[in-house]
Amino acid sequence: MLFDLLERLSSLTRVWFREHPLLTELQPIQLSALLYLARCNRYSNTPLAVTEYLGLTKGTVSQSLKALETKGFLNKVADARDKRSVHLELTPPARALIESVMPPDFLVGAAQRMGARASDLEGLLLELLRNIQRGENVASFGLCRTCRFHQTTASGGFCGLTHEPLEAKEVDLICREHKIADNSLG
Ligand code: SF4
Repeated sequence: MLFDLLERLSSLTRVWFREHPLLTELQPIQLSALLYLARCNRYSNTPLAVTEYLGLTKGTVSQSLKALETKGFLNKVADARDKRSVHLELTPPARALIESVMPPDFLVGAAQRMGARASDLEGLLLELLRNIQRGENVASFGLCRTCRFHQTTASGGFCGLTHEPLEAKEVDLICREHKIADNSLG
């Protein structure tokens, strides 16, 4: 059954993270917050966006973010235009940690053994995720380059929602404002 497979995979992932020697100091929520912040763009690195992405209560997320700040994994930086709003920026040690554990070895090894079928599976899982998100009417948090607001201009990427230019590296990050394009599953 699909549910059993997903549950087994997520439980194996949890165990792998829990037993990883570099991650012993991090609680699962703290790790999830770090993984999200390492993948999201500048419109999405706020405490509220982390709360929405993880689907947890504000209090729980706020405690985890505080713990990560104390451990030296993130800094709170005031928004340049709205001083009441803060952005959560990962520190170099946090980025180095994420780079050394992601993607998990067990997944890379299994995908290599599957060959081209691993890409087919990725496409199918994305289709499953988008169908669930459409059905439940929840935010997609998809890749910027697949967003219906994403535009490519002569000088590079451009966001049609915020009317701001996008750096090349930003188009491969996930966004809280992402809206699925009609012809895409991204
Ligand atoms: S184009 Fe879409 S995904 Fe990219 S920054 Fe704008 S709203 Fe976010």
